[in-house]
Amino acid sequence: MDKADAAFANDINVCKLCMSELADIYADLRLSSEELELLSVPDRSFTVHFPVRMDSGRSRMFIGYRVQYNDARGPAKGGIRFHPGLNLYHLRDLSFLMMLKCAVVNIPFGGSKGGVVVNPKELSRNELEQLTRGYVRAIADYIGPFKDIPAPDVYTDEQIMAWMLDEYERIKGMHVPAAITGKPVELGGCAARGYSTSLGGVYILEEALRRIGRDKTAVRVAVQGFGHVGFNAARILHEKGYRIIAVSDSKGSIMDESGLDISGVIEHKRRTGGVAGFPGSRNISGDELITCDCDVLIPAALSDQINEDHARQLKAGIVLELANAPTLQQADKILTERGMLIIPDIVANAGGVVVSYFEWSQNLDNDYWQDEEVLRRLNSVMIKAFNDVYWVCSSEPCSMRKAAYALGVRRVLSAERLRGRL
Ligand code: NAD
Repeated sequence: MDKADAAFANDINVCKLCMSELADIYADLRLSSEELELLSVPDRSFTVHFPVRMDSGRSRMFIGYRVQYNDARGPAKGGIRFHPGLNLYHLRDLSFLMMLKCAVVNIPFGGSKGGVVVNPKELSRNELEQLTRGYVRAIADYIGPFKDIPAPDVYTDEQIMAWMLDEYERIKGMHVPAAITGKPVELGGCAARGYSTSLGGVYILEEALRRIGRDKTAVRVAVQGFGHVGFNAARILHEKGYRIIAVSDSKGSIMDESGLDISGVIEHKRRTGGVAGFPGSRNISGDELITCDCDVLIPAALSDQINEDHARQLKAGIVLELANAPTLQQADKILTERGMLIIPDIVANAGGVVVSYFEWSQNLDNDYWQDEEVLRRLNSVMIKAFNDVYWVCSSEPCSMRKAAYALGVRRVLSAERLRGRL
């Protein structure tokens, strides 16, 4: 390693996720050191400090970040989260994954992620609005419809996107709806955005079942996490006639082998605050849900949920990763060796960013597509992405995760080469 290489390897900006988790893939792809260097650092990552006038009249300083990973395929695209534990290193990994996700589903974006270090639950509505506007003023020069397009993420929602858009448009002195996605429908948002991650995952699952010749009436599904993504996935699958035999949330897990009435579970959770104790079901542990006798397991809660012990006992033939990074690396290895089909997060949960792309596209054209049109296009993009990855797997036998990462990396590097940067 020469001096320049050593300096690069020690650079704190190098994306550790990119370098460690993808080492095998890079070896198979025979990447040059030039390509590796280019992939392993974001284009831009920055920290901003900005004051917010609190309700008490006192001004308080906040820290915000934004990381823009790679813009070879298009403007950066990624969420804004408001979280007390936010840091630049984690955002760098997440923006790298966004870059790969956009490349795998073949939408013309790079990746980004950002946010503010704050516990939004401790702020009043007025303080939350002032914080949002302050953050936009601090990053306004670096975002925009052709630079970097923010969207909701952890603890941010369509109201926060509406404030972000309003502040951005005040600064620019004109309407620029394509600058932010995940907006309310009244401001140019897309109605399907709310359930698009789950629906995109369902489209992918149906294509996987079709390819392996499974009839949906015989498919038993377990869903870990009954929040935004998990509940919508369970609801859509139930409506389509699948048998949902187990669901869970942070307070408990339930099972009914004959199939849960999902609208009943939703109502029960609304009344009691959790899924546990739903009449007719039995309470089980979180570990039992993961290893239960089902055909499809859908992790839709947090990262790092499926460990090595689970992997040895898991019975589901298909794992559809709607959560981000729910499977630990060692568990992934065991599941792959056992021949389980793991549909990785960067494919399975890409429906959200695909519909964000549709929103951006409609805003640029000053157009509005009917829901049916949005769903038809989502179906087509997701199935194409699944089949592109499946094709890589069949031409170079490997796990779907490896195939998806390899496909994403190849597409990014190809854009870099065409631009003459490599
Ligand atoms: P959410 O906060 O609405 O829901 C999370 C759910 O997980 C809650 O029901 C919570 O009770 C449950 N949960 C937490 N710990 C659990 C545990 N140990 N066992 C079982 N359940 C547990 O979040 P969300 O928006 O539904 O996101 C879920 C996952 O999907 C996250 O990993 C997120 O990064 C990923 N994701 C979300 C989107 C999106 O559009 N919202 C897009 C892509 C990926």
